[in-house]
Amino acid sequence: MAGIASIQHNLEVVLLNGIEFRHWRNGESARRFLRIHGNEETAHEALVRVLESQNGEGWSVTSKTRMVEVAGGKIDPNRMWSRVGAEKSLRANNAGWGAAELKKALDWLDGERPKALEAMLPPKGGLMIALHNNGPGYSVETEQPISQAVSLPRAGEPHEFFLATVRSDYEILAAGPYNAVLQSEAGGDDDGSLSRLCAARGVRYVNLEVAHGKVETQVEMVRWLLRALP
Ligand SMILES: [Zn+2]
Repeated sequence: MAGIASIQHNLEVVLLNGIEFRHWRNGESARRFLRIHGNEETAHEALVRVLESQNGEGWSVTSKTRMVEVAGGKIDPNRMWSRVGAEKSLRANNAGWGAAELKKALDWLDGERPKALEAMLPPKGGLMIALHNNGPGYSVETEQPISQAVSLPRAGEPHEFFLATVRSDYEILAAGPYNAVLQSEAGGDDDGSLSRLCAARGVRYVNLEVAHGKVETQVEMVRWLLRALP
């Protein structure tokens, strides 16, 4: 496919927060695309397909598994964007660790995190789009109680939804045909997710969740999002 060949030109492998990502840079754009969970293959396929025809930068983790190895321990890469979140994930995934190992890994991550964010976050006013896939245990119903606003035109398809961190983006998404939630206030427990960090910093971020395997749906929803949002 010509599209794939052309984006391969701009492909490199980079290390951010100790995690290996494929990185694409297509032309000039304030849009950023991220696939952070290695087991979410549908999201990777959707990202590659969207970048064939869109300007922007994309990152996709090279890991095949959800957990990645950082500073000698296992961590969920979408739980490392705060020290508090990283500590919970490292404790949960490294049973043999004592306080010293934990502190060493957390200090190391504190040093890396600003560089990773500098590389990945969009310029001021730009948009970060994170692509995820989910299974039976997670849906928009999980996020509903901790959201500030919810629009469910497709309540029968709870696995497909947008999560926005800025109200002006949410209002546009909520007027569209897909499920959407707003999480602009970082309340409750700090889970170390990138959406929470973006909400706290006022960064425009949209998470797109689609069930594993529904690549056509994910591509359709990203393309709609790119047309709908400024
Ligand atoms: Zn995910």
